[in-house]
Amino acid sequence: MKTNIQTIKETIQKNCELSHRDASLVNLICVSKSVDSETTKQVVDNGMIHLAENRMEKLIEKKEYLADQKQIKWHFIGNLQRRKVKSIINEIDYFHALDSFSLANEINKRADNQIKCFVQVNVSGEESKQGLSVSEVEEFILSLSEFENISIVGLMTMAPFNASEVDLHLIFSTLNKLKVTIEEKNLNYAPCTELSMGMSRDFGIAIQEGATFVRVGSNFFNEEGNEVAER
Ligand SMILES: *Cc1c(COP(=O)(O)O)cnc(C)c1O
Repeated sequence: MKTNIQTIKETIQKNCELSHRDASLVNLICVSKSVDSETTKQVVDNGMIHLAENRMEKLIEKKEYLADQKQIKWHFIGNLQRRKVKSIINEIDYFHALDSFSLANEINKRADNQIKCFVQVNVSGEESKQGLSVSEVEEFILSLSEFENISIVGLMTMAPFNASEVDLHLIFSTLNKLKVTIEEKNLNYAPCTELSMGMSRDFGIAIQEGATFVRVGSNFFNEEGNEVAER
């Protein structure tokens, strides 16, 4: 695992250099959804701070297992059903998949404190993906102004599995432009300074296009020396 983490960090560094970005502005999230609590603990023992899960039950189980590790920031990256909001929302630091007013309403109602949320955007228009279309995002964010417990820290997207490099650059740069549009509105409840984009197969390109949070899963847990090709 140490080798894998080293390789991931080198890819981050390399792509920051390519795009003249400061690597300290790119937060590496380990998506631990595919491994058990003990393996997740190894990631933490190797210095990872940001952990992401997409199932409520699993996040809660791991949070209990790692209860003494107060430095961990917990990210929820999955589809969240409204009826489950109550049980999870006060357990997490970031929610990456806000995409409806009714979900925002429920989060606002159930949260004890302000929750850092990313609005999920389906940039490519792929049918199977969650998220708002690019043209819906601005109006959606403006509609959240009354929700005291929601802070829109940024935008999130997932690129299609088979996207070409050209497509990936276009998808990620489109999200970046949209982010800037919102950021420039200077909304106190929606600073929108962050971009959550890039997974194992495409986080290098996402960094070149401005990602501030990359969500990397499988590259942590492959057999050492057998990493998925990174680009
Ligand atoms: C699983 C998942 C990831 C990580 O995917 P890998 O290809 O394993 O790096 C990132 N983001 C979301 C939303 C996911 O569901």
